[in-house]
Amino acid sequence: MKLTVIGPWGGYPKVNGASAGYLLEHKGFHLLVDCGSAVLSKLQQYIQPELLDAVIISHYHPDHIADIGVLQHALIISKYMNKEIKTLPIYGHDENQHGFQLLFFDDVTKGVAYQEDQEIHIGPFKVSFLRTKHPVPCFAMRIEAENSVFVFTADSSYLEEFSSFAANADILLCESNFYGDMDGSAAGHMTSYEAGQIAQAAQVKHLILTHLPQYGELEQIKMEASEKFSGSIFLAEEGLSLDLSK
Ligand SMILES: [Zn+2]
Ligand SMILES: [Zn+2]
Repeated sequence: MKLTVIGPWGGYPKVNGASAGYLLEHKGFHLLVDCGSAVLSKLQQYIQPELLDAVIISHYHPDHIADIGVLQHALIISKYMNKEIKTLPIYGHDENQHGFQLLFFDDVTKGVAYQEDQEIHIGPFKVSFLRTKHPVPCFAMRIEAENSVFVFTADSSYLEEFSSFAANADILLCESNFYGDMDGSAAGHMTSYEAGQIAQAAQVKHLILTHLPQYGELEQIKMEASEKFSGSIFLAEEGLSLDLSK
């Protein structure tokens, strides 16, 4: 399984960057996790949109779905150019019908609802969910392929359940929208210390801090997380790639 970060920013993209978007590849199958602002532009450096096999969305905040509409435009234009286009499945929860309906467009994309207590298979990936603590319904994902485990917290304030949900993951992609001395809980987000604490309790191999703030010195977030977690830590940045099969 290979992960490539497309967009590391929380809330909105910093100049020339993108908000939430992460590309997972395994055995030639390409799954895009979240599709935030400017993701479509950045994604094309790694894969053409019509070659995606599936998309999965954690929740319907704009920094996670802003580019769904332009992804659909890209696919319909490919179709006009006489390219073979298969209908792209976009997995999302249907607790927000307005959000879920955005996943359908002509015959180029279709929404597929997932349920929190369900385990689903998307190509070679097995996906399970954990409801997070956020102002709107949002789901963390545990994605497994062969012997590799990738866990994405999506957006959430601290939850004890993350420790078991992320247990022994190879990669924990954990939101850290706030610096250590701040309180993210009212906004539904976590701090660097909380991210480190979860990674330590879950005994993950690699912690990637994401959904990053646009202000301050990001190295501080990494340093703070390292006070709680002794394993390897990365700050998410566009193009950061970890290949677990190597
Ligand atoms: Zn967000
Ligand atoms: Zn959110």
